[in-house]
Amino acid sequence: MTTASAKVLYARRTAGFDDRVAHAAAVLQSAALDHAGRIVFATSFGAEDMVLTDLIARHQLGIAIATLETGQLHAETLALLPQVEQRYGIAVEVFRPVQDSVIHFVRSHGERAMYDSIALRKACCGVRKMEPLARLLAGREAWISGLRREQSNTRAVVPFREVDGEGRIKVNPLADWSWADVWHYIETHDVPYNPLHDAFMPSIGCAPCTRAIAVGEDFRAGRWWWEDEAQKECGLHVRKADERVAEPA
Ligand code: SF4
Repeated sequence: MTTASAKVLYARRTAGFDDRVAHAAAVLQSAALDHAGRIVFATSFGAEDMVLTDLIARHQLGIAIATLETGQLHAETLALLPQVEQRYGIAVEVFRPVQDSVIHFVRSHGERAMYDSIALRKACCGVRKMEPLARLLAGREAWISGLRREQSNTRAVVPFREVDGEGRIKVNPLADWSWADVWHYIETHDVPYNPLHDAFMPSIGCAPCTRAIAVGEDFRAGRWWWEDEAQKECGLHVRKADERVAEPA
């Protein structure tokens, strides 16, 4: 596996960085106050999510932190969970798929069903991600994500606060951050991160559905690379641009 330090490659201080950090913290603080005890941060332990974890812990915002353990994550991703708990003194809530559903899906469609059709790939995401996400969000008024406008065309209009398809408030504190901002924050605050980022995987999901990208490839080119760009969401953050209902941050 070819590696190069993501911090060396990407971290760069650009104009307005301090303002973007302060704004992200303010968005988080405001959301924590508005939805005290009923707000959750759904982390995938990607670079953006590590920044958000650090901000939540640094400002002691009392926002629950939870993750989806799909049963298909890389060992490097799984190893971050105890590391985060130890570093920040927090307990991460872990939501796993229903075992019987996974067994039934694999028996019916095979271990590599995600490559056979978009419908089967989405069905796999349904069993391993969407159903556990519904449990993760049950009883919460608001959730936080690490979406950034720069990540892909389908995310180019991400607002700081929006209403999701279920009527829940979704907060995207890093909406205006660049990839250089994310890594500058990680570098300057010594934030732990997934070593797969050093192996040219900017966007990390389940192991069968993530590959390294080549120079010049799009940020999310390594996710579901056998599908069209427009299909490349697992359902967690699906929203057509003209369906977004933004709220003022
Ligand atoms: S990302 Fe791939 S392995 Fe993970 S749930 Fe979706 S289809 Fe299944």
